[in-house]
Amino acid sequence: MILFAASEIYPYAKTGGLADVAHALPGALSKTLPVASVMPLYHDVDRTKHAITDTGYSFDVLLQDVAHQVDIFIDTKTQTYFLYNPILCDRQGLYFDAYGEFGDNDLRFGIFNYAILQMIEVLDLPITTLHLNDWQTALAALLSKDKLDKPYKVILTIHNLAYQGVFDKAAMGALELDWHRYFKPEIMEYYDNVNFLKAGIYYCDELTTVSQTYAKQIQTPEFGCDLQDMLARHSDKLKGITNGISYEVFDPGSDDALYVGYDSSHYYKKEYNKKKLCKAYGLKRSKRPLFVFIGRLTPQKGIELLLENIPKLARLEANFFILGSGDEAYNAKFTSFGKRYENINITVGYDETLSRRLYAAADFLLMPSIFEPCGLNQMIAMHYGTVPIVTDTGGLADTVTDYGAEQSGDNSGTGIVMERIDAEELFTATARALALYGLKKRREKLAKANMRLDFSWDKRAKKYISLYR
Ligand code: ADP
Repeated sequence: MILFAASEIYPYAKTGGLADVAHALPGALSKTLPVASVMPLYHDVDRTKHAITDTGYSFDVLLQDVAHQVDIFIDTKTQTYFLYNPILCDRQGLYFDAYGEFGDNDLRFGIFNYAILQMIEVLDLPITTLHLNDWQTALAALLSKDKLDKPYKVILTIHNLAYQGVFDKAAMGALELDWHRYFKPEIMEYYDNVNFLKAGIYYCDELTTVSQTYAKQIQTPEFGCDLQDMLARHSDKLKGITNGISYEVFDPGSDDALYVGYDSSHYYKKEYNKKKLCKAYGLKRSKRPLFVFIGRLTPQKGIELLLENIPKLARLEANFFILGSGDEAYNAKFTSFGKRYENINITVGYDETLSRRLYAAADFLLMPSIFEPCGLNQMIAMHYGTVPIVTDTGGLADTVTDYGAEQSGDNSGTGIVMERIDAEELFTATARALALYGLKKRREKLAKANMRLDFSWDKRAKKYISLYR
């Protein structure tokens, strides 16, 4: 049995793509293999809505003579286990709140990682492989392979190298990690701090990341976030496996959030979604092309390029909708544009329903990421018949190809790929999109072909299965 451990899983808790993957990949795997998943039972998880029940099993994670009680819950429908401990779970938010990162994330996720391994024993689960994801579960590799010496094969997937779980070295003592054994530059020491992700990279049997291009990029200084040398040293176990999307979760035909469902044979219904959305959110002249941005408001997503362009975009014969949330400073910056332009709606917040309506209503998705491990938005957009405008980096490079010159006969491209990552090029790409919008036949042919592309997990899950064996 595979145990898939993650700090967020859709639909229980989601801040980004990790949750989507942690839902869809185990679902696809379970068609072939026995799989269970595990995540924290955060305060915000709706136990009633998801029919999460108490297994009645509890145990203690003992650290520095303090017994941290952990209770095990389950959603039997999805075979997802939930670990409840007050320090880990009793607060709003997953990793941070309006004041920034929680100061005790090392202890919180330290408890979670010990608890994952103890849970296996308590429930006597027949686990053969532990699939860990990002820094929040990376420490379980060290615990499993060395400190607690378990027999499981350990896979670690890096969804975003920019987040590594770096903490004050006092965490070594607090989490009872042997100083002499583990506080080394090749294991988990990092500029005199501890780095959870490094411990995972060092101890895992197989290391994956979420696209082939990103797997290469992270071994270079530009994208390696200071771990490029370590990753190059471990390159024999590093593979890129491009993410997919769940065709059950993201299906324009059956998505309840949409004003009206559609498929590639009823593409014209997209127009109705656009009309309704524009009306509901105060965008006039809904016949104009609609560009949307959906994402975390962090520099990674190219939001500086977007901010710089807003006054220029406002002068175009087009509507724009920006949905996102980030730290207070960026939220304030975007909010300050408010309702300044009649053709630009900026909504600061996290709203799953609205995001789906945007994918359905839009003609174009703006995704000018500075770096992008894989990116799901562009695939969701394509599946909803929305043409992506992307930078040529990471997973975007692996999933979107440029549609070529406006009048070219070559119809193999799937979107608009920016040649450079700068504000001017983003504007140029937007202008190219406007030209494409004018070529109705060509645009619709491209969008409909995109809807029929296969971004499903089934094919991709097989690549993980071969790693587990
Ligand atoms: P990342 O994990 O870096 O945030 P991905 O492209 O991998 O980016 O995945 C982002 C996921 O989160 C997509 O499902 C996207 O629709 C969703 N998402 C991002 N921001 C928002 C938001 N503000 N409201 C609703 N959904 C959002």
